[in-house]
Amino acid sequence: MSDRLFITEQIQDTPSDEAKAAWLNFCNTIQMSLPVQAFQTWFSPIQPLRFENKTMTIKVPSRFYYDWIEGHYASHVEKALNDSLGDGTKLIYSASKNNGHTIPEKPLPITVSDMPAAAEEKEVDISSTNKSNIINLNDRYLFSNFIEGPQNSFARAACLAVGKAPGKTRYNPLLIYGGVGLGKTHLLQAIGNEARKTSNSISINYISSDVFTKEFVDAIQRDKRDSFFKRYTSVDLLLLDDVQFLVGREGTQREFFNIFNDLYQDSKQIVLTSDKPPRDLDGLDERLVSRIGWGLVCDIGPPDFDTRVAIVKKFSSEENIDLSNDVCNFIAENFTKNVRDLQGAVLRLIAHSSLTNSEISLPQARKLLTDLVKTKNIPIMMETVHQVVSNHFDVKPDLLISKTRVQPIATARMIAMALSIRLCGLSLKQVGEYFGRRDHTTVLHAKKSVESWESKDPELSATIKRLIRSIESESI
Ligand code: ADP
Ligand code: MG
Repeated sequence: MSDRLFITEQIQDTPSDEAKAAWLNFCNTIQMSLPVQAFQTWFSPIQPLRFENKTMTIKVPSRFYYDWIEGHYASHVEKALNDSLGDGTKLIYSASKNNGHTIPEKPLPITVSDMPAAAEEKEVDISSTNKSNIINLNDRYLFSNFIEGPQNSFARAACLAVGKAPGKTRYNPLLIYGGVGLGKTHLLQAIGNEARKTSNSISINYISSDVFTKEFVDAIQRDKRDSFFKRYTSVDLLLLDDVQFLVGREGTQREFFNIFNDLYQDSKQIVLTSDKPPRDLDGLDERLVSRIGWGLVCDIGPPDFDTRVAIVKKFSSEENIDLSNDVCNFIAENFTKNVRDLQGAVLRLIAHSSLTNSEISLPQARKLLTDLVKTKNIPIMMETVHQVVSNHFDVKPDLLISKTRVQPIATARMIAMALSIRLCGLSLKQVGEYFGRRDHTTVLHAKKSVESWESKDPELSATIKRLIRSIESESI
């Protein structure tokens, strides 16, 4: 975790010229290392305030920006600061205190005063948490702000039980697995925050596996392996996030195995997360997989519609913004795969609303989110694939679904079938039916052949990419 600070202050809104120039420099640099959308969502709404004594102070719309940027782009920020403003430049994130001067009355801007649980003082100096017995816990992640749904209720219940009585349940170790952005880190951190309430002296360490690995490598290089081992075996609750990052790291896995055994023998609690069930993590030490099986393994799936709506509502109310039911439903309908995307969508609307000082209507929401919605979520019809492929290969549409095996019609048909499988989310049988009542094995053969052509023939692979882009844009 970086030592960059978040503060609240009564902001003097006019930035100095130095600050403007420095911020522009910084933005130009970081922009090169980030996807356009990430830059626009997270960095565009920021305003520079001051640049003095090698310290840049910026104004963020809410504390959430700070958490998100530091949680996702800390290393990019670090590098861009050094590259654009010189080594050792510090960055302070600042948000307005709601004093009625700098903040327009309606809609309520996003402020930190309404953030959960009296966290302000602690947040001022994040690095101080490292010195205590609670390491890397972020008090935004709580059970109380985790929305329960059918896909996460079992995992949530197990986590809550462990948080209330670490080391004393049968769930040791506990492993939660599931795809990206489904709430694994949230639950893991919530366990820590819950356990914190059980005792003043409990010692907790949250660490992601890649940082764990880096620390271990560093400890070896500096001949500090013993203190590394001691640090991790002296905790009551070890929260290790994303163990898939240990795959292929044999030395680190061995060390973790030893730490695991030591903690386990002392009835200390271990909680892990991963993106797959442990058995499917090829390259994870069998002994570790078997140890993990001693406890409880549970999964967390993508949220259903109602849960998504509830998450959107909760999230927007935490950020002090009212979204109409129509807008909430629109977001929930279109961002189905993970909660992080849902949040990204809400955040974009919030940024717009706080900059324009207006409420978001459904047409505006559609417009603001089109680039996120269209490619990922609008269903693609086989008719569109049919039409785009026919046009591209200049084959009459009815020939593409006829029985003829004449070249190049047959090749175009194979590509159309393969793309239908890839883009339309339909079965081999459905695609076969559509393209001239062909058997599912014919479709499977087409799919495999096209994949193999693509891997061998860069020109064809480029053509396929172009076709996919056309199909997607025809589908908006
Ligand atoms: P993962 O670790 O599985 O990739 P995270 O825990 O980082 O996912 O979740 C991504 C974001 O979504 C976080 O901001 C988290 O607080 C939020 N989130 C995920 N699931 C839920 C939920 N059920 N209720 C509320 N917020 C959630
Ligand atoms: Mg995570």
